[in-house]
Amino acid sequence: MSQNVFQFIDVQRVDPPKKPLKIRKIQFVEIYESFNQPQVQMQADRCLECGNPYCEWKCPVHNYIPNWLKLAKEGRILEAVELSHQTNSLPEVCGRVCPQDRLCEGSCTLNDRFGAVTIGNIEKYITDKAFEMGWKPDLSNVVKTGKRVAVIGAGPAGLACADVLARNGVTPVVFDKYPEIGGLLTFGIPSFKLEKEVMQRRREIFQGMGVEFRLETEVGKDITFADLLGEFDAVFLGVGTYKYMKGGFANEEAPGVYDALPYLIANANRLLGFEKAQADYIDFAGKQVVVLGGGDTAMDCVRTAIRQGAAKVICAYRRDEENMPGSKREVKNAREEGVEFMFNLQPVAVELDANGRTVGIKVVSTELGEPDANGRRNPVVIEGSEQVLAADAVVMAFGFQPNPQPWMAEFGIELDNRDRIKAREQAEYAFQTSNPKVFAGGDAVRGSDLVVTAIYEGRKAAEGIMDYLAV
Ligand code: FAD
Ligand code: SF4
Repeated sequence: MSQNVFQFIDVQRVDPPKKPLKIRKIQFVEIYESFNQPQVQMQADRCLECGNPYCEWKCPVHNYIPNWLKLAKEGRILEAVELSHQTNSLPEVCGRVCPQDRLCEGSCTLNDRFGAVTIGNIEKYITDKAFEMGWKPDLSNVVKTGKRVAVIGAGPAGLACADVLARNGVTPVVFDKYPEIGGLLTFGIPSFKLEKEVMQRRREIFQGMGVEFRLETEVGKDITFADLLGEFDAVFLGVGTYKYMKGGFANEEAPGVYDALPYLIANANRLLGFEKAQADYIDFAGKQVVVLGGGDTAMDCVRTAIRQGAAKVICAYRRDEENMPGSKREVKNAREEGVEFMFNLQPVAVELDANGRTVGIKVVSTELGEPDANGRRNPVVIEGSEQVLAADAVVMAFGFQPNPQPWMAEFGIELDNRDRIKAREQAEYAFQTSNPKVFAGGDAVRGSDLVVTAIYEGRKAAEGIMDYLAV
């Protein structure tokens, strides 16, 4: 059968349809419908199968994208899913949450003039469909090495490390202080981007592969790090970054002012049935909410507030829209759902009533100054531009910094000047820390970043561990 090489012109890029707005505004369900097989065939067929595929280079885990697009096009889902798992431990997650416009799809040859191939949604389809067909990784030929590795943190870095170890006969035991696996995939990223069932299904798959999870177990509290070092052949640290950056403005500790992550975690706990006390839930129903910040976390907060039934939700950001760090796709989704955006505004102080309750946020207008050493234009305050935005809830979404665990220094695990664990891919054993038996990866090493980069580092660290253990 001769191939139509101009298929990418005849067939336009199509994204899966979104759920109706009236559902999106009240329900914590993924907003995108799934592709069906005919749609996947049409969209995958747009791939030009470039000789040197830029999408593969730009994808942090270097997925074999054109190869599995071809298999998906031909309906060979089980072969496609096997191939996609050769490079990625959580392809169904990446297909949902990667900022594809900056990664694989952003570098697709068709991107500029014709619209990139919808890589992310096809990756998601392949894995979801394979699971629906009863696919499970087949580890029946794997020879056990007798080695055991403790993995601290069940976020994407820890899970990816455990995945590669299990596939190579090393037994991983994963410890996490939370009651479900996933780290920020479960407790940070809201269900309208990634439904919680996706990770619950993955837990069953990992358990079937021989990965043991010890949840609700905090290392340093419920079990000592010394015990792990004694019991296991090596340890991997995928502990993330959990220190919230503050705004440094007046009254930011007042009642009615919240950090982004505790707000999102409380919402996830309610959805998952993990809420310990009703008072732990932060409810914005009927409230006027101002979220400060312009990244993906800010977008997750504004859209969560909408679904909780907030009366009004404003996102106030100190630069212009062009310079927002968040994904353009998520900004568009937030706007559609009713979020109001205000740009070039910098917070100065939380306004309080006589009882000390938040009633507004005082802001000043900014304009962008000259680019700094990193080429980023910093906001400059415009004198006399103060105004107060009415608000009975203010959320600070300014990003995260690593929070070194108290026991790290005692065991010779060195940090850099930004509190990140020192571990390099190019070391003799990839991602080994200054304690030879301890490896690390993900946000705790790179600083707050992406799911797919955490997966990459977890996988590479597993290779480093296996080299170190000589298995
Ligand atoms: P984490 O996911 O943070 O996992 C660390 C785990 O370690 C946690 O489960 C924690 O409980 C556990 N842990 C820590 N200390 C201990 C201890 N002492 N004992 C036991 N367990 C411990 N990235 C994207 O690519 N796309 C997105 O859309 C996106 N949205 C985001 C939205 C929000 C709100 C946030 C906060 C982040 C988002 N990110 C997104 C970033 C992404 O989630 C992170 O980069 C990624 O999860 C980092 O993975 P990790 O495994 O390093 O850490
Ligand atoms: Fe694209 Fe992310 Fe999938 Fe790589 S892992 S192909 S960057 S969606």
